[in-house]
Amino acid sequence: MAVFVLDRNGKALMPCSEKRARLLLERDRARVHRVLPFVIRLTDRHAESGEFQNLRIKLDPGSKITGIALVREQEDGGIAVLSLFELVHRGRQISEAITSRRAMRRRRRGANLRYRAPRFLNRGNKAKGWIAPSLMHRVHTTLSWVNKLQRFAPVSALSTELVRFDMQLMQDAEISGVEYQQGELQGYEVREYLLEKWGRKCAYCDKNGVPLQTEHIHAKACGGSNRVSNLALSCQPCNQKKGSRDVREFLKRDPARLSRILAKAKAPLKDAAAVNSTRWNLLGTLKQTGLVVETGTGGRTKFNRSRLGIPKTHALDAVCVGEVSVVSDWKKPTLTIKATGRGCYQRTRLTAQGFPRGYLTRQKQIKGFQTGDMVKAVVSTFRPRKAWFKGYRIGTAASRSATMGTGFNCGIYGES
Ligand SMILES: [Zn+2]
Repeated sequence: MAVFVLDRNGKALMPCSEKRARLLLERDRARVHRVLPFVIRLTDRHAESGEFQNLRIKLDPGSKITGIALVREQEDGGIAVLSLFELVHRGRQISEAITSRRAMRRRRRGANLRYRAPRFLNRGNKAKGWIAPSLMHRVHTTLSWVNKLQRFAPVSALSTELVRFDMQLMQDAEISGVEYQQGELQGYEVREYLLEKWGRKCAYCDKNGVPLQTEHIHAKACGGSNRVSNLALSCQPCNQKKGSRDVREFLKRDPARLSRILAKAKAPLKDAAAVNSTRWNLLGTLKQTGLVVETGTGGRTKFNRSRLGIPKTHALDAVCVGEVSVVSDWKKPTLTIKATGRGCYQRTRLTAQGFPRGYLTRQKQIKGFQTGDMVKAVVSTFRPRKAWFKGYRIGTAASRSATMGTGFNCGIYGES
């Protein structure tokens, strides 16, 4: 794995090999600047006489794990892999936390209060391009690592995988609830998609070969949404006959068709769904970094990977994103980065029923340490009397002791 190098003033230089980094540190020509990822800072030189090669960050955004690769572009058009990373997202935890918070709030509001009639339309409209917090976090954590790599290495370009293929893009948009008027999905794409989905015939009378209209299954007049999952195709007579009536009423004499339509409207493709609305958003965010952004498709990634005989991992998938001719040095260890969040504001621990069970401390840091910190600890046990150094992840830093990943409980003495 390449070691990131900064000059005396903290400006990024070309990453070097582990061997060279070791020599620099041994000869006291560099200091350790950061441990994860490993960055050293030169002590004796100002900015190196600009021999920068082109570095590129490659991304394979996934719903659970995003692969990140830092590569050097070579003269012959090939790329050499410098570092591999896997970023583990916590979208699931975020959505679970929000769901449980909502349930608690419901209970709290409903438990002790008299009945109040719901107020009408008291929620503001969501901003254009809004995506759920669990998905937005994927964009933010990915961007944060892109920024980090930019600080540690002179990166000049980006590649990211955008779509699997266009058909899927539409399907995913439907399930994740992106509305077809939200810009990123043009009207004609929705229409092409609907034609495919409903088999190019009227959903209500199976007539084909006639002009078909986009139809809201749950009528707009009754509060039906513009989501793709609420759209069907119907011929003009059926559309007119249905009017703004509820679909259940309209099809009450044909319950088989009704249930078929309702089921078809929402086809579950959950995992892939998260990827796509996020990927579009990520692309827009990445463009704002000012780097040149290349986009690729999943098909091309797979093609590159099988052509070059590279195994399938998230990080190596990232290497294969976009236009790639030759890849060298890809047999590298992968640094796994886990998104841990910053804890929660809630200071009351609740039981499953939402009753208070205990309270957390107001302050999150104890002597500069905090839950989830990586520490270098001197652990001494009674029987084998020895001490050793290792990186540990602290379990909890409440009070003055901490549980470490290995199950040891220790006192906190030093400052971080
Ligand atoms: Zn019809």
